Amino acid sequence: MPELPEVETVARGLRQAILGRRIVSVSLGKTDFIDDPVALEEHLPGRRIEAVERFGKFMLLRLSAVMGMEPVVSNGDSAAASLLVHLGMTGHMAPSPAAQPREKHTHVCLLLDDGRELRYTDARRFGRIAYLTEAPLAQELTGFGADPLEVTQEEFANRIRSRRARIKVLLLDQGVLRGVGNIYADESLWRAKIHPARVGAKLRTEEAEKLRRALQKILQQAIVMRGSSISDFLDAAGEPGEYQRHHRAYGREGKGCYRCQSAIRRGIVAGRSSYYCPKCQPAPRGFSALPLPGGRKKKTNAESQKTRRSNGRGRRAAKRIARAK
Ligand SMILES: [Zn+2]
Repeated sequence: MPELPEVETVARGLRQAILGRRIVSVSLGKTDFIDDPVALEEHLPGRRIEAVERFGKFMLLRLSAVMGMEPVVSNGDSAAASLLVHLGMTGHMAPSPAAQPREKHTHVCLLLDDGRELRYTDARRFGRIAYLTEAPLAQELTGFGADPLEVTQEEFANRIRSRRARIKVLLLDQGVLRGVGNIYADESLWRAKIHPARVGAKLRTEEAEKLRRALQKILQQAIVMRGSSISDFLDAAGEPGEYQRHHRAYGREGKGCYRCQSAIRRGIVAGRSSYYCPKCQPAPRGFSALPLPGGRKKKTNAESQKTRRSNGRGRRAAKRIARAK
C-alpha cells in the first residue's frame, strides 16, 4: 500500500503535470469507492486545480470556485472545494492524452482544458475518492496525528507514550502519526535498533529520539528515490520507485542483516508481518518469531568448506544465517 513517500511522489508528479488546469468534464466507470459519484459529475466541471497536497496517505487536489460564478455562495455549491484521493492498494492517478485508449480498471477520467485526461485506475478498488467542500473536508481530516516529517522531538515522545501499545502499533496508527505504514515502520525500527513489539511508552528518551530521526531520514531518502515499488506502485509519470532496493528489513526474512549478518526474522505485531534483526533489535520477553520458511538443513563440514571457498562472502553470510537458525 502506498505510504507517505509514495503518495508524496505522486503528489509532486501531479503538481508538475496538472497544476492550473481546469476540469472540463467528468466520466466515471465503477463508483463503489467514490463517496458521492454524482457530486463529482455535478461539481468538478469548471473548477481549476490550484494545488496538489499530501495529508498523511491522502492526496488533496485543491479546486477553485466554479469559473464565472461568485466565489461565495451560501450553500457552498460553487465555493472552493477539494478532491480527496486515497490510492488504496493499487490506485494510480496520472494524466494521459484524451485520445489514448483507457487502461483496464480506469474508473475516473477528468477531461482537462489542455486536451488531456486525468485518469484514476484501480484494479482492486480499495482506494477512495471524495469531493468535499471546506467544512466536510476539515471534519474528515480531524483526528489524524502529526506529519512524521515535521513532528518535533517532544511531540513524538509524547505521542508514542500516549497509550500503552507496542511501538509498531503506534507507528502504524494514523491518529498518532499520519502517513507511516508497514514498510517504513519496519525500516525505521531496524535503523533505530528497536524491536517492533516493544512497548512505546517504555522506550528511553534517547531511543525515542533515535527512532524519530531514523523515520525522518528514511522517509526523506525514500521520497528522493520516488518511493518503494513492491507490488505495482507507479508515480504520476508511470515509473516505478527505487527505494525497495534500499530496504534493510522489510521483506528480507531469512536474509542477512546489513549490520550483523544475523538472519532477518518475521513476527506478527499489530496483526501485520514485521521484519527485524533478532540481534540488533532484541525482542521483549515472551515474543517469538515465526519459524524461517523451508527449515534450513545443517550442512556437513565438507559441504560448508566447499561453499565457503566457491562463494566467498555471500555464502559465509548464509552460513551464519543457518547457525542463527
Ligand atoms: Zn543485525
